[in-house]
Amino acid sequence: MNTAFTPGMVHGSQTAQGSRFDAVVIGGGVMGCSTALHLAQGGMRVALVDRGQLCREASGVNAGTLTLHMTRAALVPYAMRAWQMWMDAEKWLGMGVLETHVPGLTLAFTEAECELVELRAKARREFGAPIEVISPERAREIEPGIHPSLLKAGYCEIDGFASAYLTGRAFRHALLNAGVEVLENAPVEGIDSSDTGHAIRFAAASGLQPLQATRIVLAGGVWIENMLAWLGVKIPIKVLINQLIVTERIRPVMRTVLSVANGLLSLKQFANGTVLIGGGWQGSGDRERGGVEARPDNLVGNMRLAAYAVPALAEARVARIWLGLEAETADAMPIIGDVPGVKDAFVVGSAHSGYTSGPFMGRIMAQHILGQPTDLPLFDPARLLGMPMPGA
Ligand SMILES: Cc1cc2nc3c(=O)[nH]c(=O)nc-3n(C[C@H](O)[C@H](O)[C@H](O)COP(=O)(O)OP(=O)(O)OC[C@H]3O[C@@H](n4cnc5c(N)ncnc54)[C@H](O)[C@@H]3O)c2cc1C
Repeated sequence: MNTAFTPGMVHGSQTAQGSRFDAVVIGGGVMGCSTALHLAQGGMRVALVDRGQLCREASGVNAGTLTLHMTRAALVPYAMRAWQMWMDAEKWLGMGVLETHVPGLTLAFTEAECELVELRAKARREFGAPIEVISPERAREIEPGIHPSLLKAGYCEIDGFASAYLTGRAFRHALLNAGVEVLENAPVEGIDSSDTGHAIRFAAASGLQPLQATRIVLAGGVWIENMLAWLGVKIPIKVLINQLIVTERIRPVMRTVLSVANGLLSLKQFANGTVLIGGGWQGSGDRERGGVEARPDNLVGNMRLAAYAVPALAEARVARIWLGLEAETADAMPIIGDVPGVKDAFVVGSAHSGYTSGPFMGRIMAQHILGQPTDLPLFDPARLLGMPMPGA
């Protein structure tokens, strides 16, 4: 489906006005930014457009955990490569995101959770994650603040976190250096596609003229469903309304990334003393309106679990809460590949733990578009055509 590209073609593909791009990426989250950057580094003339500012949706408001524990087992090889990219952010982005390497522990407080820790560790080890199951004594040596009722823990040396709100700043720096044309506050309304290319149309109020592109990449997070609909392609994308909580600054109470085996908690303390509490507890909202309202019972449940896992957190007061939208496909695997039935159109997104894996997902998307072998296999969107969401 993709037209092979060689860097020598770059200038030949532009019109006299220089307004035709080899590729236009729509959506400036981590997936779109990484794709655009790698395409430009591969020699293409690239524009990246976002209706807001770069990385201000999921990619700027997420919990910043860079983890293998919570990544789907089959995605571990992708997450491990991406984890290294985050740790090397200063090298390839020219600017860091306060990336921090600390180990990660998954905690089990019940017999059922012990079983889960064993199962999850085994499944991820099969895909290369260095996760071992350790005793409560060993876990408390590593993280003394854990509740004494701990029964078992999964331990992974490859874990850590970043400050997600710095993602847009770092990518903008790298994208501009690589010569990518970055258009922010540019809401795309539709795409007219033909055999010779694509015209990307903007909302009338933006005053922007259509962009001409040989190739398009849809990287719209939960809005990928709407973007695919512009091209007449129907793939359902589920929207998760995740709540996050940050505490005021407190004394150092933990030094690892903590989660619980049932997946309902993720915890870390930043260098400034604040503690970020998440775990996928849901708020209210939808794709059209965004995250509208936090659910108080879910906030309380999340905080209770956090204060149980690390009792010292009971002394922390909540400084702020917010919501963000996360995308999920019907089979919980990403979509990275050709848009079915549309020439020179591509889509990248919907990866579980997508912040962790995003830089690498964008890299393989770009490799495919550039006609290069990809470091790891893509995830063909065609498998999801017309598939209903589970429970829909
Ligand atoms: C609260 C929360 C916590 C999370 N925590 C973690 C975590 O700790 N670790 C982890 O690995 N993952 C985490 N995730 C998941 C992760 O953040 C996402 O998987 C990832 O950021 C998705 O990136 P993306 O580029 O696909 O989408 P997004 O970041 O959502 O980017 C999509 C972009 O498309 C743009 N767009 C949409 N429509 C248009 C249009 N019409 N025209 C132009 N632009 C448009 C949007 O403005 C947006 O910038 C979390 C997610 C949330 C919401």
